[in-house]
Amino acid sequence: MVSETIGKIEDLLSETVDIQKDYVEKVCAACKTPCCLRVHYLFNEKDTCFLRLSGYELIWRRELLIKKGCWFLDEKGCVLNPIYRPFICHTYICHDLEMEMNRHDKGLKALLDEKFTVIRRMRNQLRDEYLLAKKTGV
Ligand code: SF4
Ligand code: SF4
Repeated sequence: MVSETIGKIEDLLSETVDIQKDYVEKVCAACKTPCCLRVHYLFNEKDTCFLRLSGYELIWRRELLIKKGCWFLDEKGCVLNPIYRPFICHTYICHDLEMEMNRHDKGLKALLDEKFTVIRRMRNQLRDEYLLAKKTGV
C-alpha cells in the first residue's frame, strides 16, 4: 500500500540523516567548495512522486532561484526538511565526509549503503504502486 511504503521510506531516510548528522555538521560546515553551490535542481521523477504522495510541499523563494547554487540553499543552509531532499543529497558522500566517517566508525559507510539500497528498492515500489493505483483507480 502506498501510505505504508511512504512511511517506511520516511523512517529509513530519517535513520540515514541521523547517522550522517554529526559528520555533516562538522565536515560540511568547514567545506570550502560545498556541493550545494555547484547544482541547481536535483529532484528526479521518483523524488517528485515521493514528495507528492507524502504531502510535502516545496516552497519556492525567488531570491534563491536567482543566486548561485541550489534553489533550496539559503545563507543558513538547505531550507528543506532533510527527509524530503532529493535522494541524491542523501547518497552523495564526498571523499572528505567519507574519511571523517571512517575515522570514527569503519562500518558506517557500508551500513548507509545497505539502507540506501533498501530505500532505492522502496522508491521503485512506490512508483509502481502509484502507477497501479492510478490505472485501477484504487
Ligand atoms: S558533502 Fe562534501 S562537498 Fe558537499 S558540502 Fe559536505 S564536505 Fe563539501
Ligand atoms: S536540496 Fe538541499 S541538500 Fe540538496 S543540493 Fe539543494 S541545498 Fe543542498
